[in-house]
Amino acid sequence: MKVFILEDIEQLRDHLATQRQVFTPQHTEGSTELDWLPLTHKTKSITSAWPVLPTYPAKQFFFPDREILFQFDGHAFEEVLPEVELQILFGVRSCDLCAIAYQDQFFQQDPYYQARRKATLLVGIDCKQPCEGGFCPTVNAGPFIRDGLADLACHQREDESWLVLAHTPEGAALIQGLNLQTADPNLITQRSTEESQIAAGFPSAVHIEAGIQRINQAQVPAETWQSMGLQCLACSGCTNLCPTCSCFTSYDRPIADGIERERCWDSCLYDAFQREASSHNPSADAGQRVERFWFHKFSDAYVKTFDRYGCTGCGRCEKTCPGVIGVHSVMKRISGTL
Ligand code: SF4
Ligand code: SF4
Repeated sequence: MKVFILEDIEQLRDHLATQRQVFTPQHTEGSTELDWLPLTHKTKSITSAWPVLPTYPAKQFFFPDREILFQFDGHAFEEVLPEVELQILFGVRSCDLCAIAYQDQFFQQDPYYQARRKATLLVGIDCKQPCEGGFCPTVNAGPFIRDGLADLACHQREDESWLVLAHTPEGAALIQGLNLQTADPNLITQRSTEESQIAAGFPSAVHIEAGIQRINQAQVPAETWQSMGLQCLACSGCTNLCPTCSCFTSYDRPIADGIERERCWDSCLYDAFQREASSHNPSADAGQRVERFWFHKFSDAYVKTFDRYGCTGCGRCEKTCPGVIGVHSVMKRISGTL
């Protein structure tokens, strides 16, 4: 890994824009929320102190909510692979980078996901303060960027200059031409120390730790899940905004000379999610569906496959759930710390 000093982060951003289309979190007109939007001359300046994540994670860049998979004219199937312009996502936070790495594994064999992913480079920014509802340190997903999860990782220093860590050859190639000075290796050690200090400043997450333990020891009574199931409106807000949720369904629709198959996001909180052709439904009860969702987020069983929990501590589900059964509410209930 090569590390450089950068005086002005916007110099880097504008340099990247000369090479590829750049998307970065921005406020849409009149909104306090951040959305992923293309960089334009109107894009305002950025800072590592943004206390908020974009409303949507970056998953939609690789796994869009709807896409055509193939067409069939009665004789032959024709795959419809996406044509993606080379792009850069600039300003991805550590929790969302961990989620992208998680989905990279889930969609390893998926040519649609991989076509978009291979056309995209990731530039991350270390978080210097906790965001509302975030608990990334508890699930080893932040606040600073894990090695190898971004092509470039940017870290703001006390004197307002930046460290730029080139984790991949593609990242190193992006900054060629900026003539950046190589950083003193001691600055990397300082960055690690600073991460521990910032992580220590996050609000207590004892309810998350205790909840994880109870889920893995099967100590949550069925009635607790059922009472939370009563609060679920099956709106899919949580699964849509969760950066690691990847469930989809597909359906065929007629076109002029045949059919086309489209896939779209599904949600394990929908009552028919697991319903079989025989009408048997292993999660017919809303409580079972809520339990299933949280088991997928915090079961040790999945750590073997993904090397981490299925929750990266972004807190989006807590903010969006109209039934008040997002991550903090659920983990407080099941850990008995409410
Ligand atoms: S479960 Fe909630 S807190 Fe965890 S990654 Fe998904 S949206 Fe974020
Ligand atoms: S956001 Fe809340 S109410 Fe909506 S599906 Fe998820 S758990 Fe249910």
